[in-house]
Amino acid sequence: MQTKSAQNQKKEPYLYVVATPIGNLEDMTFRAIRTLKEVSLIAAEDTRHTSKLLSYYQITTPVISCHEHNEESRINIIVDKLSQGFDVALVSDAGTPLISDPGYRVVKGVVEAGFQVIPIPGACAAIAGLSVSALPTDSFIFSGFLNKKQARRKSELEALKITKSTIIFYESPHRLVALIEDILSVMGDRPAMVAREITKYYEEYLRGRLSYILESLKSRVSIKGECALFVGSHSDTNNEIFSIESSDIDHLIITALESSEIKPSKLAKSISQKYNLPRSEVYERILDLQSKNL
Ligand code: SAM
Repeated sequence: MQTKSAQNQKKEPYLYVVATPIGNLEDMTFRAIRTLKEVSLIAAEDTRHTSKLLSYYQITTPVISCHEHNEESRINIIVDKLSQGFDVALVSDAGTPLISDPGYRVVKGVVEAGFQVIPIPGACAAIAGLSVSALPTDSFIFSGFLNKKQARRKSELEALKITKSTIIFYESPHRLVALIEDILSVMGDRPAMVAREITKYYEEYLRGRLSYILESLKSRVSIKGECALFVGSHSDTNNEIFSIESSDIDHLIITALESSEIKPSKLAKSISQKYNLPRSEVYERILDLQSKNL
């Protein structure tokens, strides 16, 4: 790396894409700190936000803003710096830049201008959450934020429905319930996990079927903090953590029989399909509960 104090040691200048913490300030790698100290300029999503991190690590490198609304115009400044032989770093407010964060146009512009872009890996809510989800990790889709409009969101979910991969969503806490309701209606009651406030004081990992998570979230006065949602495939049924309890099945049967005239065979079909259970067992349980007169 070309340092401020050693600009004459001829080395190709780089744009470093540096991951920063997603909550816990200690989640900075040694290399990330050294890089931010040694580059000539830091392009940050929000200079005030990044200044807290920089002062924590006593980093005094000059900072310019580089966000959604000025990214295009920042490309020239960054490419100019690189052309003069200086290294530049790109950071976002939290986690890995470009992952539901600005930076894509800068990276593309810098590559197009013929310069190297080097990642300095670190925190990312999607990967941190996935690694503790207990959902399959061999194949996953990062879906980020879906559209805020329900009709568009539902068609985005329809397109994702057929995948066998674990799906990762980002969502603001006040829209999380609506997102889960939509996933439930489009994809059925899949195994899932909500990761809230990863690496922070009130971090929480809520695992279960979507219906269980929904019920649990709805029972709260409010949902606070940053949330990521991980949804498993419908075929991931061998996972006891997410399997529906027999008491829950009983509850479903009783509620359905009490609230409608549904035939036992039809109810058995719908429950067995939804929860991937043997239809004959569900049917027998329905008859059993019926014979006990509920
Ligand atoms: N670049 C970031 C990353 O690498 O994860 C993501 C930035 S995006 C603007 C912010 C969203 O990421 C939040 O709304 C939330 O969905 C997720 N997120 C970020 N930090 C989180 C945390 N500590 N716990 C849970 N989710 C988090």
